Amino acid sequence: MIIPHDIPPIQPPEFHLDIGPPKWKEVENTVRRARAASAPGPNGIPYKLYKNAPDVLRFLWRLMRIVWQKQGQWMRWEGVERRKISWRDLWEMEASKISFIIRATYDILPSPKNLHQWFGEDPSCALCPTPATLKHIMTGCKTSLTQGRYTWQHNQVLKSLASALENKRRVTNALPLRATNPLKETTFVREGQKRPKHPSTKPETGHLCMARDWKMLDDVSQQLIFPAEIASTNLRPDMVFWSPSLKTAYIIELTVPWENSIKEAYERKKLRYAELAAEAKQRGWNTKVYPVEVGCRGFVASSTIRLLKELGIHGQALRQTIRSVSEAAERSSQWLWLKRKDPCWAPRTSR
Ligand SMILES: [Zn+2]
Repeated sequence: MIIPHDIPPIQPPEFHLDIGPPKWKEVENTVRRARAASAPGPNGIPYKLYKNAPDVLRFLWRLMRIVWQKQGQWMRWEGVERRKISWRDLWEMEASKISFIIRATYDILPSPKNLHQWFGEDPSCALCPTPATLKHIMTGCKTSLTQGRYTWQHNQVLKSLASALENKRRVTNALPLRATNPLKETTFVREGQKRPKHPSTKPETGHLCMARDWKMLDDVSQQLIFPAEIASTNLRPDMVFWSPSLKTAYIIELTVPWENSIKEAYERKKLRYAELAAEAKQRGWNTKVYPVEVGCRGFVASSTIRLLKELGIHGQALRQTIRSVSEAAERSSQWLWLKRKDPCWAPRTSR
């Protein structure tokens, strides 16, 4: 679906919506106001029970608060694209995968910290002496970090992203060079005629169409050495995408963070490459630093989609790329989860 350009932007809400869990007072008042014979809610528990067993009511309220707080978490994620999972996707997914994604998203997997909260078990991480939340297992464990678990996950996602970019690069370089920027071209329409809905040839979009000598380096296939023609540095971004004739370079850095930390990861990476970008600019290069993120639970950040669109990846190709990077993050996270108690680290080899 294409959203027409003349739709006015949506204004931020005037009234703050309270999305906090219900307060005890609210629950108490609701129960007091209802008649004992009122029709029960979806759970079928009659009001009579709530009225006569305040301890049960309080217990249920506490449980509800835990679930509410966990569920509300994803509403506070910033810079994350809304995820579209179709019925077909669900149909084709293995049951264990669906269950993992949902439980990871709501943070209700049996992590030591959750088991501690639910049943009073030892909350420690099996690999280090820290209380192990899901966030700790996925992104924060020092032992996992030294063992290279997170680097492995990062590279799984990077491989998937790099392959989409490499594909776009090859296709672009093979096209005949356009004399002008098609973005600025005007289509003339005769009076009384409508603008054609679908142009006969799909115009090449994005900034790549101005050159046919695009080069790309990524840090997965070989250790990246930053191209000396752009700037001299010891920094090793995840990808460099550049055109010598245009003197344009994209410095791309991928992070696979906990979804709540996407914005923070973006700012940190932007800062890391600021000096390098400035040096390249001084040498006459139009340089863009692109920190991109794919959350460890498969939620793709807006920054990633911005990059793909800027490089002219749209429509079906865009959806495919989003899906493949998202799946790479999910699959590797599931593996990190399965290996959470195993002190020996071995990357997943199949698929
Ligand atoms: Zn740990």
